[in-house]
Amino acid sequence: MTDRYALIGHPIGHSKSPLIHGLFAKATSQDLTYTAIEAPLDGFLDTLNRFRSEGGRGSNVTLPFKLQAFEIATDPSETARLAGAANTLKFGPGERIFADNTDGSGLVNDIQRNQGFTLAGKRVLLLGAGGATRGAILPIAQQRPALLAVANRTADKAHALRQAFAAHVTLQTGGLDELSGEAFDVVINATSTGLTQTALPLPDSVFAPGALAYDMVYGKGLTPFLRQARTAGAGTLADGVGMLVEQAAEAFTLWRGVRPDTRAVIQQLTVPLV
Ligand code: NAP
Repeated sequence: MTDRYALIGHPIGHSKSPLIHGLFAKATSQDLTYTAIEAPLDGFLDTLNRFRSEGGRGSNVTLPFKLQAFEIATDPSETARLAGAANTLKFGPGERIFADNTDGSGLVNDIQRNQGFTLAGKRVLLLGAGGATRGAILPIAQQRPALLAVANRTADKAHALRQAFAAHVTLQTGGLDELSGEAFDVVINATSTGLTQTALPLPDSVFAPGALAYDMVYGKGLTPFLRQARTAGAGTLADGVGMLVEQAAEAFTLWRGVRPDTRAVIQQLTVPLV
């Protein structure tokens, strides 16, 4: 029998997930369907329960429901618990719901496997203190960087993350205006400025010579952050298309027990950084 999976969010029209999971299923000969379901803003739980009662085996969850997805889980992973948010649910046995947050491990896999950068021993800077940063902190810290720093426009939100993660990671936190004189081997833009094509007030010196500059947004070409990184001497520029495909691969592996190959799918979705 064909197994059913879905992405639940609002809005959902732009999503690449049905395409990605369709390609994974074909390449691994898995008998499944994956659809996108737009839930009303006040109707996440009803939508999810209906999907489960119709035989759904698991789902991805996107904005604005990632916090609710975590809250309804009976068995959250450590990463989901620390992030306070989940993007992947696996239903069963019985009424149990396992929740994970695969965004961060997708990011780490993209950086290390696809971009060829090892995070161990490196100075890593995360820009932003929203959901994407929360999901990325633990998976990055598990790679044992020499330093993991979080800088945010609103410095207090970065400081709050230092406290929330204190039992697991020692974070250096501050405002974007406190970065002068600091240099990092990996600089990750986890703010939403990639979506709005807004520049960040960063000193060029944050990019160590040859650094990896990574913008989590995808499909936007050369964002103002990546353009600045290129002029400032970063050695590698990447957007978040690999993270998107790798987080999907993590979910697919959790559901199906088979790891799909990601390279061809990333290639198919890549928009050139020009
Ligand atoms: P979010 O929770 O809304 O957080 C937004 C962050 O951006 C906050 O830290 C905010 O700072 C900062 N920000 C917004 N406008 C800014 C500006 N003009 N200058 C400086 N900082 C600004 O968003 P999110 O869910 O973390 O997502 C962040 C980005 O990651 C988005 O572009 C999203 O598309 C991307 N993302 C990609 C993937 C992927 O698979 N590739 C997955 C998840 C997310 P304040 O706290 O000061 O407001």
